[in-house]
Amino acid sequence: MQCLAAGAFAIAYSVASEALERRVRNGYAVQIGNAIFYAAMISVMLAAFITTEHVRLHLHSILFFLYLLLIGAVGLSDDPRQAVAAGSVSIIGYCGVVLFAHQAATSGNPTAARLLPELDWVGNGIKITMLAGASVVAVASAERGRALRRLSLRDGLTGLLNRRAFDDCLARLGKSGEELTIAMIDIDHFKRLNDEHGHAIGDTVLRWVASRIERSFRTGDLVARYGGEEFVVALTSTADARIDARLEVLRAHIATSVMRDRRSEHDLRGVENAGQEAELQIKTTISIGRARLPADGETPEQVLRRADQRLYEAKAAGRNRVVRGEH
Ligand code: GH3
Ligand code: MG
Ligand code: MG
Repeated sequence: MQCLAAGAFAIAYSVASEALERRVRNGYAVQIGNAIFYAAMISVMLAAFITTEHVRLHLHSILFFLYLLLIGAVGLSDDPRQAVAAGSVSIIGYCGVVLFAHQAATSGNPTAARLLPELDWVGNGIKITMLAGASVVAVASAERGRALRRLSLRDGLTGLLNRRAFDDCLARLGKSGEELTIAMIDIDHFKRLNDEHGHAIGDTVLRWVASRIERSFRTGDLVARYGGEEFVVALTSTADARIDARLEVLRAHIATSVMRDRRSEHDLRGVENAGQEAELQIKTTISIGRARLPADGETPEQVLRRADQRLYEAKAAGRNRVVRGEH
């Protein structure tokens, strides 16, 4: 009966937490909470079964296996914090259960007294070591999952979201029906910069522009590398006038900045003067096309296309500018 009640409660809880996870922005906090809850619940069930009559003696071993199952399951996630939470709460919980069983046995509980020989210090030491070992493996596995997830979502050169990750997020934003502003940003004459200074310097400029763009917006905004020297930003949070002001400040900042790269004369001119330091100074500009939902399209994809068209208008009009349409 207790088993059925606990099972029904666990199912109801997981359905409720699944719904909550979808609603809140920080779903990871809910998942960590879940790991703690499930580990605590296994401990409570263990304590209940150790002290309840009419229960098969081996049941507590089966319940102990649930700890390992839980720790293994969180190891499959991509969040090591969940594994740390599940592992530590399981270990603390199990220690609590053993102390509780000893106390229950001394105060005369017959089931606990019958089980006590199984709860000796050597056996418990082995079990706690098993939990600790499983936790370490789970943390390592989750860390690996996190690294893989990062690799699949982030661009290797700039660390920004990649195009696929951006498209996925954008599709989700479309479903939420929030107001949206999209800006397509492209470095001007980047091919020429590559040709003049080489790809290594080109990469440095790309990283620098990417970091400038990222710093111009807030953490909740989506900033991605959309293609070679093309970036895209999707903003839901800020009032329109401030978004346009930010884009203009970003454009002006890049246009007025000078990138310095210290290189040897040898590298720069290919002459036999190696060792003499010279400073390479690079200037670049960006063009931006901006569009809004719902004024410029009904879906995020339409708005993205409109922003792209405006980016080409900015290029055609002479580059180093923001084209934003009427709205
Ligand atoms: P526009 O002002 O019209 O945008 O001219 P552009 O030269 O910037 O544009 P174009 O599309 O002709 O050239 C883009 C260049 O970007 C060509 C490609 O070699 C370079 N590029 C793309 N990805 C990378 C990269 O990861 N690193 C470096 N260094 N260059 C890249
Ligand atoms: Mg370009
Ligand atoms: Mg381009």
